[in-house]
Amino acid sequence: MYIPYGRQSIDDADIEAVVKVLKSDYLTTGPAVAAFEKKVADYVGAKYAVAVSNGTAALHVACLAAGIGEGDEVITTPITFAASANCVLYCGGTPVFADIDPDTYNISPEELEKKITSRTKAIIPVHYTGQPCDMDAILEIAHKHNLLVVEDGAHALGAAYKGKKIGSIADMTCFSFHPVKPVTTGEGGMIVTDNEELYRRLVLYRSHGITRDKDMMQQYEEQLQQSSDPALQEAADMLRGDVIDPGGWYYQQLELGYNYRITDISCALGASQMDKLDHFLERRRQIAKKYDEAFADIPQIKTPWQQEGCQSGWHLYMIQTMERSRREVFEGLRQAGIGVNVHYIPVYRHPYYQRNGYAGVHCLNAEAFYERAISLPIFPGLTGQQQDYVIEHVIKECTAIKS
Ligand SMILES: *Cc1c(COP(=O)(O)O)cnc(C)c1O
Repeated sequence: MYIPYGRQSIDDADIEAVVKVLKSDYLTTGPAVAAFEKKVADYVGAKYAVAVSNGTAALHVACLAAGIGEGDEVITTPITFAASANCVLYCGGTPVFADIDPDTYNISPEELEKKITSRTKAIIPVHYTGQPCDMDAILEIAHKHNLLVVEDGAHALGAAYKGKKIGSIADMTCFSFHPVKPVTTGEGGMIVTDNEELYRRLVLYRSHGITRDKDMMQQYEEQLQQSSDPALQEAADMLRGDVIDPGGWYYQQLELGYNYRITDISCALGASQMDKLDHFLERRRQIAKKYDEAFADIPQIKTPWQQEGCQSGWHLYMIQTMERSRREVFEGLRQAGIGVNVHYIPVYRHPYYQRNGYAGVHCLNAEAFYERAISLPIFPGLTGQQQDYVIEHVIKECTAIKS
């Protein structure tokens, strides 16, 4: 027996939805993409959604749309997957790590505010494990310092902060549809926003920076026109005819974008998965509750803390082993066939970051958490019997006499 920490749940309806697209006219840039975008936007309560090839691409285009570039600093948490910070580096910006709150394991608003400089441009809060960050405090800081807030909601599709779904709160929210995430498309991601200008830029960067949108061409042509460089003014004159009355073949590349498109095949799977999201979340909540109850009276196991008035997406169930070493517990559980994991190594500790200016960086709460953290299996298809087995072994390993 091997029990993973997370896995997808695929049923016949999912398979049928995918097969239907395979027999249709469009495998990419077709109607299934727009339908999936609308489904997620409606679910979270956002005006616009842009589906892309994966969650990392979502973060990258969000940073591009936010205008992150050389010299800009963006503050995020060290307890996250590297992509939350890498997306800033892709744009030439500088990720800055603010320590976590030792109770919630999310970025601490106080620590965040301490990291703000004149170069800070945005904040990327990560709703780690699916537990919403303290968004009131983060938005207040953002307004005070005129910063954009791009949420990394990879763990948090369906989670709610004070009655509001994640995806309806900040400037942009990025989701991932990797198989272990709340719903899957195989590989996939999405950005949601209420801001039309950001939406148009997200669409632009998703596909090479190319557009057929007349308004957008005009806007860029006007920028050239206003330049003080005579060559650029001349370029504006040259483009004017095509911008005012573009031929049917005509398009323009306005920015350096990417091919981050997602297929209709993936989106058909995603839309079908969305029908089951609430059920998946309910199962995850039940599993978390059962762990909470099983470990409640065991001082050697620290269970995750829940913020009042919020609903976690329960992407991960993190415990801390308070007595026995993490290595011993981890190896004991792996030997028992339990696919425990550690989420995450503080991002700045990776050799790439160490080599590139982060050698002296320390976030003490993040490091203390990392030393003790273990993630237990949690996913909708985990059976009661499997969970009983996990609980028995976690208690056995965490309470064993220190060797
Ligand atoms: C999964 C994940 C990502 C990246 O998503 P991909 O779809 O794997 O590219 C980014 N941030 C966090 C916190 C994640 O868990």
